[in-house]
Amino acid sequence: MSEQEFKRALGYANSAFDLLKRSGIPPYPQFYELLYTYATGVNPTLNNRINAIFRNGDAPSMNLAETLYNEFLKSDVNDRMNNVSERMHARIEAVHEAIDTAMTTANAYSGSLQSASGDLDREISPAAMKSLADRLLAETRRMQETNRSLEQKLEASRDDIASLQRDLDDVRRESMLDPLTKIANRKSFDEGMEKAISEASATNEPLCLMLIDIDHFKNFNDTYGHQTGDQVLRLVAMTLKSNIKGKDLAARYGGEEFVAILPQTDMEGAVIVAENIRKAIQAKELLKRSTNEKLGRITASFGVAAFRTSDTAASLIERADRCLYAAKHAGRNRVINEVDLANILAQAAAVAAGATAA
Ligand code: GH3
Ligand code: MG
Ligand code: MG
Repeated sequence: MSEQEFKRALGYANSAFDLLKRSGIPPYPQFYELLYTYATGVNPTLNNRINAIFRNGDAPSMNLAETLYNEFLKSDVNDRMNNVSERMHARIEAVHEAIDTAMTTANAYSGSLQSASGDLDREISPAAMKSLADRLLAETRRMQETNRSLEQKLEASRDDIASLQRDLDDVRRESMLDPLTKIANRKSFDEGMEKAISEASATNEPLCLMLIDIDHFKNFNDTYGHQTGDQVLRLVAMTLKSNIKGKDLAARYGGEEFVAILPQTDMEGAVIVAENIRKAIQAKELLKRSTNEKLGRITASFGVAAFRTSDTAASLIERADRCLYAAKHAGRNRVINEVDLANILAQAAAVAAGATAA
């Protein structure tokens, strides 16, 4: 670690301690981690949330810190992954032990058989013969017993491994979902994007990307609170998901931003999908769950870009993002695609040229 890195980390740590002290939150490891993460700024959503609390003139209480820690840092998926992995280890160990025992017994048995066959080579009295037969019978029973026990253990392992497999599948599926909205998270989006791009490149089929950002969402949160804001995020996620189909992938891109990958869809089709979603979001009348209070409506802005053969995921996202920015700039609650953007830029250039000429 360089001296600079050390100093930076120390700065975050001091800032975390200051915040803990100022807010009267006990410096337990989880709260320290929460405010250390806040100090680094790596999680903008977390920072937005804490900043909103400070802006209200409140200090994050211990209860709130607990809620935030559980939501942002406590990794349920990791805990469950560790649990599955520990059980898997224990199972493998048990199977090894059972196999070891079975092999030891089998070796002893084969030793007994060998010594018996040596005895039989020699002249042997009927009494000795009887004792030999008794010994072999007893050994064979013991061998059968061991085999049965091995079978039982393997059977139990098979059931347990099948249940572990199911748990592992669940954890894997969950690790691809955004915990708040239960639609695909950023990680699945990144994977989906790579896949969609390689398929579009291979097949020459069209592919579009749609970025969505809720309008004035900060105001909404400030007016109605974050929990109601979270409800709205769920609602937008569901609206998005129910308006796409087939190979499309809808994901939460971050905070109040969503994204949809639309394979086998050209620009014209993508704009129709975007318009449908925009209208569906606008049409929803929001009600506060607890009180049924009417909260009015929300709108969202959309940027749509079409894949070009030279595109990487980053370049395609960047073009969609520029369209989204133009949609915000043009007044929000609208869909802007690349052609619209080119026209807007051309008009702006013409106006600027006119102004220079005048
Ligand atoms: P614009 O129309 O320009 O997009 O304005 P905006 O207020 O939506 O944009 P800005 O980027 O300034 O603020 C985004 C807000 O989204 C900030 C934060 O309060 C809110 N937000 C982000 N993540 C979450 C979340 O997980 N839950 C809630 N309730 N709000 C969130
Ligand atoms: Mg935003
Ligand atoms: Mg916004």
